[in-house]
Amino acid sequence: MPRLQELRNAARARLREAAISQPEASADLLLARALGRDLAWLYAHPEAEIPPEAGRLVDGWLEQRAQGTPAQYLTGVQEFFGREFAVTSAVLIPRPETELVVEAALELALTMPSPQIVDVGTGSGCIAITLALELVQRRHPARLWGVDLSESALRVAERNAARLQAEVAWLHGDLMAPWLAAEAQRRHSLPRQLDLIVSNPPYIAESELESLPPEVQKYEPRSALIAGPSGTEIYARLLPQAFHLLRPGGGLVLELGYNTAGQLLPALRDWELVEIKNDLQGLPRVLRARRPGHAGGLG
Ligand code: GLN
Repeated sequence: MPRLQELRNAARARLREAAISQPEASADLLLARALGRDLAWLYAHPEAEIPPEAGRLVDGWLEQRAQGTPAQYLTGVQEFFGREFAVTSAVLIPRPETELVVEAALELALTMPSPQIVDVGTGSGCIAITLALELVQRRHPARLWGVDLSESALRVAERNAARLQAEVAWLHGDLMAPWLAAEAQRRHSLPRQLDLIVSNPPYIAESELESLPPEVQKYEPRSALIAGPSGTEIYARLLPQAFHLLRPGGGLVLELGYNTAGQLLPALRDWELVEIKNDLQGLPRVLRARRPGHAGGLG
């Protein structure tokens, strides 16, 4: 049986030759997963013998990784906010920047008694589920919904919520359509006013698709990435819907594309307390705003 060290060197070389970014980290991740171990174990056991099934699994994964498939779609998982989320090619792979969206939303949610929170375009459910779990950990009562237009994404979100034991209600629909429909039909199954709307919507312009890294361009769901010709189309539809459905003083937290902040600000004239937070690269990444008229003077 081959030793871990040999397999590891071969795996790294293979990904390096295929010009995969971060070949070492990628090879180690796939190896660790195939062996059902963590990275620390991998580094500590260079002499370990590799059972043939694990060897075959890694081999298949390396082949696909070398051709560009993101490692997360092979292993089926991505860590987000310290928890493991299942991912399939039906959902965007959760990004570290999106943790800043969760932090900004969590901070606001904690200033609101029993907030009713919606995550729009929930994908893997990473934002809604993380908020639900972080609020429970702080014993802060809240209700959460996750909406998506993609039924296959909702199935992934549901699976993640079950796995992580988060209480989130999942709804199928386009942006805030489930609330708008409930309102039009005078159904009271959904609250008429919300406290917090959070979203990491598609925000890439069609013309930018080609400049995305090939693994994003070819493997991640286009409907989760591309907004339309300008990149701001989804924000343009979501902002008025959010304004209409938030209570006075309610909050909106959005992830931004690296160049969307400037285009978005004029559309926020009617909002209050508009702030933009930069990510670790110094790019404007998170927008937070309030619907005017503070109910109860909170926050
Ligand atoms: N809300 C999900 C995430 O943050 C999906 C985002 C998307 O598909 N645009 O990963």
